[in-house]
Amino acid sequence: MKTLATLAPLTARLLEIQHLASAAALLSWDQETYMPPGGGAARAEQLATLQGLAHDKLVSPDIERLLARWIDFQSGQPVDTPDDPWDEPSRALLREVWRDFSRAKKLPSDFVKRLGRECSLAQQVWTEARKKNDFRMFAPHLQTIVSLKQEEAQYRGYKESPYDALLDTYEPGMAVSQLTPLFATLRARLVPLLERVVNASVKVDDQVLFRSYDTSRQLEFGRMVLTAMGYDFNRGRLDLSAHPFTTSFHPTDVRVTTRVYRQELPACLFGCIHEGGHGLYDQGLDPERYGTPLGDSLSLGLHESQSRLWENCVGRSRPFWRHFYPRLQQLFPDQLAGVEMESFYAAVNRVNPSLIRVEADELTYNLHIMLRFEIEQDLIRGRLSVEDLPGVWRDKMKSFLGIVPEQDADGVLQDVHWSLGAIGYFPTYTLGNLYAVQFYDQARREIPHLSSELEAGRLVVLKEWLNQKIHRWGRTYSADQLVRRATGQPLSPEPFLAYLEGKFGELYGFSGFS
Ligand code: ZN
Repeated sequence: MKTLATLAPLTARLLEIQHLASAAALLSWDQETYMPPGGGAARAEQLATLQGLAHDKLVSPDIERLLARWIDFQSGQPVDTPDDPWDEPSRALLREVWRDFSRAKKLPSDFVKRLGRECSLAQQVWTEARKKNDFRMFAPHLQTIVSLKQEEAQYRGYKESPYDALLDTYEPGMAVSQLTPLFATLRARLVPLLERVVNASVKVDDQVLFRSYDTSRQLEFGRMVLTAMGYDFNRGRLDLSAHPFTTSFHPTDVRVTTRVYRQELPACLFGCIHEGGHGLYDQGLDPERYGTPLGDSLSLGLHESQSRLWENCVGRSRPFWRHFYPRLQQLFPDQLAGVEMESFYAAVNRVNPSLIRVEADELTYNLHIMLRFEIEQDLIRGRLSVEDLPGVWRDKMKSFLGIVPEQDADGVLQDVHWSLGAIGYFPTYTLGNLYAVQFYDQARREIPHLSSELEAGRLVVLKEWLNQKIHRWGRTYSADQLVRRATGQPLSPEPFLAYLEGKFGELYGFSGFS
């Protein structure tokens, strides 16, 4: 049996590539947290050099020669000899390195540079355009990016839809033909559920979340929750940034960020829990496999499942708040005096159709994603022109959420993704929401008394379950295989829909307790 030891010459080279990528990630983290504003231009050059080196090393003749010894380039499969086959980890490693290598080889280097340049420019213009609420300013750049992404889809290749080629970058193996019926099922149940919530006689008031809360105490509470989740501050940090994010340089050095506003309690709180979920995934990867795909996270959808599970299934649940609400009250005795836990629970779960995706509640969030999924497909297929986008956006907002933005800054200009060339990224958010509930349901079945553990603040039992079922495997399995192994079922919208219908039916008083 051939094992990972056979692949040592390959993994040694992969480790060098990882070192370059980790150094680049550290520079990016610094850019978002502590870099003085004047450093931007030089930092962009430094990053481009490191990323270029990592890319060149991956597609080098050196790696190609090694892969040719072990992989049949026609089929992409490991070359097996019946008397001396590969063991499972080695097969997985070869499969995934081949994926990275062949994907990187498909794009001509002048195309990669062109795309990088255009995106860097488009991002600056987008920032200005959003500030000025001027879609026409951004439109020509978006047009260029759409054309480049159409070109990219051709280089990458696809079976059914050019959009599949872009989706595959973020969620390997996922396809429009799988997402379309999935999203249709979601929409068919979410829209009527939203109508019932909006028309319910029960109204939820969330004013309590917008009183004045001392920011350093908010951060203290965030750290308390992260610690209870099992986020290891010996191998991690919490810092501030304009947009919360998580990055990792190694499982022993994982950084999360949050933002904190005096008048807005949810931003820091749920920022910490959400990014903490991402952070636990990265801290839970196998350090022995660092630098190889087996020590890397699986997909954006899987990553998002970890953050959403903690943020929503746990952080917006009663058991969580039974433990943490008295502690929050201790930190903010004046602001929360006389506010019952039950009202606080309702406030953090309030449903309100709104214009901005990142502020959306659990119920409406996926409607924002479906709208973007439809638009992106039409753009890539050439069925929708960029100049018609603002109008199409308003029409779709009306039909999905029943509200219409007055200005493009709150509509088509709100997300950074397109300016970064990240078309095909949005669906991973919804996939993350679905995976999250499916995993959480399974954890409840497998961990005895999970609710009472959470009520006692022992969140770490859930972290350990996720470590075992998900984190430690890296990219050993495909997302589909991992979900089946962890839950016994393929990905399904049912657990998520049942969860929402139960939770909001009860909160808004139109179904019994469930
Ligand atoms: Zn996230």
